[in-house]
This record gives sequence, C-alpha cells and structure tokens, in this order.
Amino acid sequence: MFLEELGKIEEEAGRELREADSQDKLSSWHTRYLGRKGRLTSILKSIGALSLENRKEVGSKANQVKERLSLSFSQRKDELSCGPSLREDVDITLPGRPFTYGSLHPTTKVLREICTIFSGLGFGVVEGPEIEEDYYNFEALNMPEDHPARDMWATLWMENGLLLRTHTSPMQIRIMERASPPIRVIIPGRCYRYEATDATHESMFYQVEGLAVDKGITLAHLKGTLTEFSHLLFGEERKIRFRCDYFPFVEPGMEMSIECLSCQGKGCRTCRGSGWLEILGAGMVHPRVLERVNIDPEVYSGFAFGMGVERIPMLKYRIDDIRHFYADDLRFLAQFR
Ligand SMILES: [Zn+2]
Repeated sequence: MFLEELGKIEEEAGRELREADSQDKLSSWHTRYLGRKGRLTSILKSIGALSLENRKEVGSKANQVKERLSLSFSQRKDELSCGPSLREDVDITLPGRPFTYGSLHPTTKVLREICTIFSGLGFGVVEGPEIEEDYYNFEALNMPEDHPARDMWATLWMENGLLLRTHTSPMQIRIMERASPPIRVIIPGRCYRYEATDATHESMFYQVEGLAVDKGITLAHLKGTLTEFSHLLFGEERKIRFRCDYFPFVEPGMEMSIECLSCQGKGCRTCRGSGWLEILGAGMVHPRVLERVNIDPEVYSGFAFGMGVERIPMLKYRIDDIRHFYADDLRFLAQFR
C-alpha cells in the first residue's frame, strides 16, 4: 500500500514540477511534497508503525523518491532563475545570428554623388514642391494652354486643377522669381507621369535640374559644365556627345550622350546598337522664359539641364528594369550595400 502510494506521489510530483513556471509555484510545490507536512514527509514519519521487513523496503524506496524529487526540484529552480537561455532544449553552442545592416537606396547614392559634384562646381542645392500649378509646370516654361509640346509629358492632374509635377523644371521659374542673377543651382526631386509602367518607365522617378543665369553665359559654359560632370561621374576616358534636341523652354536645345558603358561604343542591346546612351537634356534658357520672370534677355543669359536619376545606376549596375527601384524588394536593395 505504501509502495503504491510512493509511486503515485512521484508521478504526480514530477508532472506538477514540470508545470511549475514561477518561483511561487515552485515553493508551494516544495511545501506540498517535501515540506514538514508534505506528502512524502508524512509517509516517512509513519514508517515506524510498520513491520521491520516492510519498514526496510518502504524506507529505502521513500528515501530514493525523496532524493530524486529534491534533485529535480533544484534543477527546475535553476532553469527558472537562469531564464530560457540555459534550458535543455536551447543549444547554447550554436553560433549567434548575424545582425542585418541597412543600406542606402541606389537612387540616394547617385543623388548624393550628383549633388557633391555640382556643389564642387559652385552650384547650390534647392528643393521644390511636388504638387505644382499649371503655370509653373507648363505656361511659364513657354508652353501656353494649347501648346502641343504639353503632350510630351503625360500629366497626373488633381481635381482642384493642380498637378503632380512632370519634371523638375518648374523650379527654374520659382527660383528666378525669387532670386536675381547670378544664379547657379541644381534641384533634385521626385517627378510623376501618368504612364503605363514598363522596364524603362515608372510613374514616379527622380530628376536633377540644373540652372545657371548670369551676364555672358554661353553654350560653351553649358558644354564645359556637363563635360566636367561626366568626367567626374563616369570617368575622364568616357567619350561624350552633344546633339540638337527640342525642349520648349530652351533655345537652342540639346541632349548629351555618353559612350555606352556595356559595349564601350561598339553597339549592343543596351544602346540599341548605336554605341551611345542619352543621359540628359539641356539648352540655353529661352529668352521668353527669362522675360516671364522679369530678367532682361538682352543683359542676361542662362543654361539649364535636366537628367533622369535612375537611369544612371541602371547603366552602372546593369539593372534591366526601372520598376525594381521602388518595389521595396529587399533582395534587390541589399545588393547595393
Ligand atoms: Zn552598347
């Protein structure tokens, strides 16, 4: 009878001990089983009433159970006081997990590079609003209401007649309204287009605008500035080319291309066989744009340029789809650490 009782006590005590998950529960367990009035203690006390033979057997069994429970109790106590790190099911010999580091977005990196280069050439850095008025985005840039060139920019209009700027050029007007020449600034920022997206078109992208206005500014100044910029960003050995192009707010207008980074000018898929990659549009500020902001085109002249920012890391790192940039896929972004 006593032996049976001892087996039952050991089983129950073991189960309750595993379930005890706080020091309070642990000490109440100790009182219940091993304390002065505990279940095991009362059996040990009543052994004296047994026959000599039974006394020996029950006594030794009871002492074994007591020893085992005491040992389990102190182990459990250690587990609870050391926390989970020393539990048996945690392998403390496993190597630690490495920290994950963030990194700058490829667009941010190139933007900073561009700003650093132009700061070195004496240009200030200015930012402007992404929500614009028709006046700044089109009209003041020599594109009145029914001007066909407005179609060059698929525009996102808002219900109140405002729009999301389609390029950073509206800031040319805002700056010339506020400041008088000499002016030398670049304007980095987001632009928006109402477009179906594909590998080379996104509805949101970055541009950097540049503007210089002073007495005696010529096309040579523009070419010199852009040549220096290209040398610093793409290397001095990289050939560049200027060709005529049309933008309503410059006259004459031109585009600048660099020798293809993939094929070194021999012709490949990236450059569509031409050996050249267009990097930016530029030109001399149109006299009518200057008149609009009350700068006398007989006295002052200026140049302006605008470039798409994502295109540069796309060419540099051979990224084949502009949509990767803002899809927030860490597998893509982590490559630029
Ligand atoms: Zn090529």
